[in-house]
Amino acid sequence: MKVAIMGAGLSGLTCAIMLERHGIKPTIFESRTQVGDRFINGEAFLSLLTRPINDSFQYLSDEYQLYLRPTGSINQIIINSENEQASIKEHVGFVNIRGRHKLSLEAQLAEQVKSDILFNSKHSYEELLQEYSHVIMATGDAEYAMKLQNFREDLSVSLKGATIEGNFDRFSVLVWLDNTMAPKGYGYLLPFSDTEANIVIAHPDLQEGQEELVTKFWERFYDRVCSELGQTLRITDQFQIHNYKLGICKSARIGNTFFTGNCFGSAMPFLGFGQFAAILTGIYAAYDLCGYGKYEDYTKILKKSYDYSLTLRRGMEHLTNQNFDFIVKHLNGYVGDKLFRPSKHNPLKTLSYLVRPFIKKER
Ligand SMILES: Cc1cc2nc3c(=O)[nH]c(=O)nc-3n(C[C@H](O)[C@H](O)[C@H](O)COP(=O)(O)OP(=O)(O)OC[C@H]3O[C@@H](n4cnc5c(N)ncnc54)[C@H](O)[C@@H]3O)c2cc1C
Repeated sequence: MKVAIMGAGLSGLTCAIMLERHGIKPTIFESRTQVGDRFINGEAFLSLLTRPINDSFQYLSDEYQLYLRPTGSINQIIINSENEQASIKEHVGFVNIRGRHKLSLEAQLAEQVKSDILFNSKHSYEELLQEYSHVIMATGDAEYAMKLQNFREDLSVSLKGATIEGNFDRFSVLVWLDNTMAPKGYGYLLPFSDTEANIVIAHPDLQEGQEELVTKFWERFYDRVCSELGQTLRITDQFQIHNYKLGICKSARIGNTFFTGNCFGSAMPFLGFGQFAAILTGIYAAYDLCGYGKYEDYTKILKKSYDYSLTLRRGMEHLTNQNFDFIVKHLNGYVGDKLFRPSKHNPLKTLSYLVRPFIKKER
């Protein structure tokens, strides 16, 4: 068996680690000059989105002996709407770093990989397919899956973000639900140290000719964050992404090509979280190649989560700022604490059933 992995990100590197443990040495092809060669940003694991697994890091460690370190816990989430605020003081998840940082998740995975990583790769999928018996498609985007007509696109998103310096409570994450700053989307502040944080707005791509609105949204958002924190925050780095495709593969595997991570559809449409699912797809693809089961079967549960998440996202698109105020007001207190408190219950499933009739009614 000769395995090529296209992409040295979360799913590709995880897959390589698992294959190596079972005596298969893949070759990894990475288009960038080094692992994680992109802007530094803080990302999160939220237990609300992975239940019944409440602690993703513990789960990966106990179930798969995959040892990864977050940079910190999230012990408080503050959700803001235009006029309301909910403060939930629970252990809701973890923050980790991505990109050009020695503690980034991809750097931690790369330390555990023994196989060759060929950087600056220009090899196309078609070339790899000719030379290798199996290809793991782990490029972090849907490009090839779309070319193969194997990807159902549900949403295309724009993200604008910055690294900021200030004084932060590194255990608290702030979220904004406000259509005047992020229409049909959200904004957040994720600290990755006491002095550094990311602020990001994410919303569906704007129509052609409306792109300049992004600057307006961003200015509103930045001002709102500064006033909320009572600080003038210094921007040290910025990024902007358009056309970030959220969707899912029709087939997780075609022939001997396995679609993993975002190529599979690990980024969930509701809030864009995809790290945990990306790591799992890397493990599952390797397990299939090692003869422990079928990749299509392993990924069924992720497809289900994706569907719940898509229903929630469609529901969220109908909410006005008044609706957000109502929800946030009621999240402050017993309901919010109960929703975010670790439990075996998966609220996404219940919430998606609750919003389904409203979406159908609108159609
Ligand atoms: C701004 C932003 C914030 C996010 N925040 C969160 C969050 O808070 N929580 C969360 O769970 N998820 C978050 N996500 C989603 C999460 O980052 C992704 O779902 C996850 O990284 C996908 O992993 P992957 O293995 O598919 O791809 P990646 O980890 O992105 O790796 C893909 C790799 O493939 C390489 N590559 C690309 N094209 C080629 C090619 N042609 N040949 C060879 N190599 C190639 C890339 O250089 C990269 O190294 C966020 C995403 C973005 C953009």
